[in-house]
Amino acid sequence: MRKVIGIIGGLSPESTTVYYEHIIRRYRERFNDHRYPEIVIYSVNFQKFIDWMRKEEWNEIALELARVAHKLYRAGADFGLIATNTMHLVFDEVQKRSPIPLVSIVDATAEAIKEEGIGIVGLLGTIFTMTRGFYEDKLKAYGIEVITPDADDMEYVDRVIFEELVNGVIRPESRRGFIRIINKLKAKGAQGVILGCTEIPLLVRQEDVDVKLFDTTRIHAEKALELALS
Ligand code: GLU
Repeated sequence: MRKVIGIIGGLSPESTTVYYEHIIRRYRERFNDHRYPEIVIYSVNFQKFIDWMRKEEWNEIALELARVAHKLYRAGADFGLIATNTMHLVFDEVQKRSPIPLVSIVDATAEAIKEEGIGIVGLLGTIFTMTRGFYEDKLKAYGIEVITPDADDMEYVDRVIFEELVNGVIRPESRRGFIRIINKLKAKGAQGVILGCTEIPLLVRQEDVDVKLFDTTRIHAEKALELALS
């Protein structure tokens, strides 16, 4: 029996479409037929979440994500994904209130890093993802150490995410900026770098750098496909 995938999307829309495309494309590559897994996507009002983040009202965010999880359940989803890294700050709270199991992007990424046998990784993402420790704590349990950029670079990465990437704006100078920061993380000892914001893979690709990149969007989508078929 196949499972129906539920996606809490719109955080931001630019990466939600990548989840859908990835699941369908990977299914086709593997099976070459049209029996795709069924998918329910609930695309939220992103502005509400931006406002809550700015005011650090994480409880509101958790409650709203749990309400959306109920909507996915009512639409037939067997399990759900929160299609963004940042909101995983409240993953446990949402999971507690959700009627369906949720698949963590942080766990899926930790498993992918472990499989590569990597012990030290760099982390890029929003300021919340880079500073609030939810990646560090989880990866520590897998025996993986996390290093982050210095304060100015963190501020730059966060600004590019919110001023450009979530709006679908891709600038070559920002790509160069991100490559510079990834290379600095490598020089600090990172054996791999987590693209820990679902929009960063729109800007930086594996071929741009010579350190292993962990594309959390595709890792998460891949995990969903695997579970849907299991
Ligand atoms: N999608 C981004 C992430 O993976 C950031 C935008 C948001 O705050 O949802 O963290």
